[in-house]
Amino acid sequence: MTTVRFKAIDEALSRSAVIKDTDMKTSEYYGVNVFNKARMQEYLSKEALEIILSSIEKGKKIDRKTANQIALGMKAWAVSMGATHYTHWFHPLNGATAEKHDAFFEPAGNSGVIESFSGSLLVQQEPDASSFPSGGIRNTFEARGYTAWDPSSPAFIVGKTLCIPTIFVSYTGEALDYKMPLLKSLSLLDKAAVDVCHYFDRNVSRVIATLGWEQEYFLVDEALYKARPDLILTDRTLMGHASARDQQLEDHYFGSIPERVAAFMREFEIECYKLGIPIKTRHNEVAPNQFECAPVFEEANLAVDHNQLMMDIMRKVARNHRFVVLFHEKPFKGINGSGKHNNWSMMTDTGVNLLSPGRNPKKNTQFLTFLICIMKAVFENSDLLRASIASLGNEHRLGANEAPPAIISVFLGTYVNNLLKEIEEKVSEKKMSPNEKTELKLDIGKIPEILLDNTDRNRTSPFAFTGNRFEFRAVGSSANCAGPMIVLNTAVANQLKLFKLDVEKLTKKRVKKDEAIFQVLKKYIKESKNVIFEGNGYSKEWIVEAEKKGLTNITEAHEALKAYVSDKTIALFGTNNVLSKRELESRYDISLETYTKKMQIESRVLGDLAINHIIPTAIKYQNILIQNATGLKEIYNLKDFSKLAEKTIQNIRIISEHISQIQDLVARMTEARRVANLKEEYVAKSAAYASTVKPFIESVRDHIDELELIVDDELWPLPKYRELLFTR
Ligand code: ADP
Ligand code: MG
Repeated sequence: MTTVRFKAIDEALSRSAVIKDTDMKTSEYYGVNVFNKARMQEYLSKEALEIILSSIEKGKKIDRKTANQIALGMKAWAVSMGATHYTHWFHPLNGATAEKHDAFFEPAGNSGVIESFSGSLLVQQEPDASSFPSGGIRNTFEARGYTAWDPSSPAFIVGKTLCIPTIFVSYTGEALDYKMPLLKSLSLLDKAAVDVCHYFDRNVSRVIATLGWEQEYFLVDEALYKARPDLILTDRTLMGHASARDQQLEDHYFGSIPERVAAFMREFEIECYKLGIPIKTRHNEVAPNQFECAPVFEEANLAVDHNQLMMDIMRKVARNHRFVVLFHEKPFKGINGSGKHNNWSMMTDTGVNLLSPGRNPKKNTQFLTFLICIMKAVFENSDLLRASIASLGNEHRLGANEAPPAIISVFLGTYVNNLLKEIEEKVSEKKMSPNEKTELKLDIGKIPEILLDNTDRNRTSPFAFTGNRFEFRAVGSSANCAGPMIVLNTAVANQLKLFKLDVEKLTKKRVKKDEAIFQVLKKYIKESKNVIFEGNGYSKEWIVEAEKKGLTNITEAHEALKAYVSDKTIALFGTNNVLSKRELESRYDISLETYTKKMQIESRVLGDLAINHIIPTAIKYQNILIQNATGLKEIYNLKDFSKLAEKTIQNIRIISEHISQIQDLVARMTEARRVANLKEEYVAKSAAYASTVKPFIESVRDHIDELELIVDDELWPLPKYRELLFTR
């Protein structure tokens, strides 16, 4: 058999694992490619070291002179590691990371070149970035974007290039990336959380957000991948009938990791360790060929960089093992999609996790204060949080097959829920009696230190409290974590500021501080408890119940994204100086543009495949059937022939029917695209694509998937689901 498909299967089956391993202990090479504290000690003067550390730890500015010294030290280290180039490494809004490499040398008269890298090159650069998405902020002809060093995330070496994490801003100072607003949201949260901590502990002077992401992904054999133009061009399968066996046996999750996959995991983990990315967990996921990995949590900005970096490494290393990694949220219809759970909490510089209950009523009141403020922030900003995870890929995942719905709710667990109920009942709006106070204190003092009870873990909630952190589970697997983190940090910071104001209002009226805190918490619980949902988030009943509770369920991404430009969002981000109205509008526009263009590509690819691959194949097979029927007619009498060829003739008719439907639907889909393309603004264009093009993408597929079941397997041109999902 010589079809592309069978060649690909043969090639895939002939693979064995490439084992690239090391005998070294992880601790012996962990972080070798990072300009970390140890390297800094070696390569920087004491003075420069102190300045950069206080910049990392306290956000202090670095002056030019010191920047020069740091650049020299960094270069010396990088050159000693064999690096020849350096690049500013940043996160533009197209979802990838960007680099522009420059060599480490300057012309030096007649004598050739000298290795050089100055402070000014470290601190700031002007990449020609006119083709990065900017949503209209930066017209190509008027102003350039520039990148500026983020000292809080250490430089690292990949291959022979020193990579320097940077923010990316327009000439007029507007953010063109994820990192700049992320850093702003983190310092906003720092200040707001420290202020609230001071009600309980005067020693706190800094609060960082912590993030531990869990990354889900699929692996597909490279040969099979190459035989699927839809995977190559759209990252997902646009057709493919369900495999007779997929995840119904529920045997993949706890299964052993296949050898080739394990070899891939080992190699990318080694690469991650060299870069100081603390990957800790790996396992199979629910769907066949689906896997997950997770690091130990880190400071959120670093964790975001590490996730982006790891995705790059995984893509590269996968090729060594003849795999392709799919980060798409829904690469296969009918089986689980992939998410990127964002485990998030806050930690003080005194070492306290603000979402961990402690040993005394005071610590626990602090814990409850943060927990309730977060719940209120999620309630108040649920539409914005929904927007922060909206994308075309996630639109296919949310609400389908074992994924949280598009309804944002909060899960707290029985214990915390009961506690909130008690606060709501026991705290009176008038002055509390000493007895009432003691009772409340006793209850709060009793919170078990360990709330991490596995029996009380809700895995269907988009935003679940898991004992010492919240887990935002609705984030898509291909997303940059910064998107949702910017929203969460800002919303929570804003709520903490409001909390402080609310408490102050009462203390000014001579209500005692403790009592004021509880009165405000009680008020927040009452106002936001509708966002709590403890049941099965995957059930149909929840959709009905959520509507009754007034929670929104926006299923389409282009609709959800509108929350980015609502008056409420503009006020939230504006007053907190995280993103301006113009920046929000540009982000909204870029997201809609990406959404529309991706759907446009999907629709074109599907049209091409339908017309060039599927219909010709169907006709070939139909001709075989026709030949067969004609032959039968020649050798049998009409009565026998009618009986014997009945099914064959029926199939000929069914195939004709599908072919003509596909032809008709593809033509109508093309026309729908043409009409949608006439709309100038992306608001209208994306809506037109969603309502007039998307339905055709699904209906064309349905006919193709039906044909796949009828047409001779030997003729079928594309690898099937059973091959894509079970060859490894
Ligand atoms: P599970 O599958 O039970 O959710 P995992 O071990 O797969 O657990 O992932 C848990 C993630 O949560 C890890 O990345 C872990 O580091 C992270 N995490 C744990 N504590 C915190 C915290 N305080 N802040 C942020 N992330 C945390
Ligand atoms: Mg988890």
